[in-house]
Amino acid sequence: MTNSPKKIAILGATGSIGQSTLEVISGSPEHFQAYALTAHHSLGKLVELAKTFRPRYIVATDPIAAKAFDWSEVPADTELIIGHEAVKQVVSDSEVDTVVSAIVGRAGLEGTWAALEAGKRVALANKETLVLAGSLAMQLVNKHGGEILPIDSEHSAVFQGLEAGRKQDVARIILTASGGPFRNHTLNQLKEVTVEQALDHPTWDMGPKITIDSATMMNKALEIIEARWLFDIPANQIDVVVHPQSIIHSFVEYIDGSVMAQLSPPDMKLPIQYALSYPERRPSPASKLDFTQSMSLEFETPDMERFPALLLGKEVAERGGTTGAVLNAANEAAVASFLDNKIRFLDIVTASRAALDNHNFESNPTLDRLLELDVWARREVSQWIACC
Ligand code: NAD
Ligand code: MG
Repeated sequence: MTNSPKKIAILGATGSIGQSTLEVISGSPEHFQAYALTAHHSLGKLVELAKTFRPRYIVATDPIAAKAFDWSEVPADTELIIGHEAVKQVVSDSEVDTVVSAIVGRAGLEGTWAALEAGKRVALANKETLVLAGSLAMQLVNKHGGEILPIDSEHSAVFQGLEAGRKQDVARIILTASGGPFRNHTLNQLKEVTVEQALDHPTWDMGPKITIDSATMMNKALEIIEARWLFDIPANQIDVVVHPQSIIHSFVEYIDGSVMAQLSPPDMKLPIQYALSYPERRPSPASKLDFTQSMSLEFETPDMERFPALLLGKEVAERGGTTGAVLNAANEAAVASFLDNKIRFLDIVTASRAALDNHNFESNPTLDRLLELDVWARREVSQWIACC
């Protein structure tokens, strides 16, 4: 018996994760089919993807950009839909098997949410949804019978490490971090970092927001929070180790001292394919480790003084409630301001800390309340920038 290919909706198809997902699909057309693709601004690229992959739907989420664009080259068998609401429509389409959530930032929440409400498998790159509303998102998974499979390489590694034992026998998980481009910078050097330097990551080629997050190590902070909700594991059982080669993508340590690690060259196509094909494994277009070449694997303790974002990650993973929404929004606003040359590199984390400290904590917020706080925290960062 032959199974028909799984139909995949890719939210954020023109981005770095979107492109890698399409490479995975190209490598296994008998297993995967691009069914719906969304994009915000790169509309020319979206049309090119439509010509190559012939999806059933393409979605242009920014209505202003979409109205100004010439769509005459969209293939006749692909339907164009415009606006954010269309994302909800395509993810809940009964034909869709898996939704790849790869829109960057808070903008990825609605599509992820609608997919979980429709009980779909979500291959999750958009960690910000779990940072913002992880507790509620996991409740949605349970309520509607969907699932979240991580695309984030660290969480994919942990997910794989957890297959080796029982949940109650896990002592801790240890997320690896490349340390980013400024691993060896002094505090004084960090003060002078430019946008161009921060956008130049040593081991991963990613979109601009996550590249800045990696440089401040806020990415690892967000990943601590992501792990806390995704694996339902307390913050005091989540550690971080700096591993500059990005070969080991994370560890799971069991109570007997055994440590499970997942290794591969840094290439997102591997965790993406695993999330799409789980529980099966298939040959993948990702590059393989070559053990005939000498390789060294180094580990360092992260420096909380130079990278205080990690303390924020720990704190938010511990406190939960409204803290994730505030940290996520403050960081997003601060990163955008840094990319606009309005604040300096170290200000990103300082402004995020100020927003977190100024907010009124609530332990059991609704999604509406979290989204209000998202707006509040962005304003708070604007005020911080105006006054400091
Ligand atoms: P990117 O900037 O390359 O792509 C972002 C995508 O989102 C684009 O398709 C863009 O059109 C779309 N988009 C942007 N703003 C939007 C909006 N307001 N509404 C709708 N769509 C919008 O980003 P990326 O590096 O692919 O990262 C995407 C997500 O994956 C992020 O949450 C990131 O943290 C996560 N992630 C990325 C990597 C990586 O290697 N790039 C690794 C792990 C996790
Ligand atoms: Mg990661």
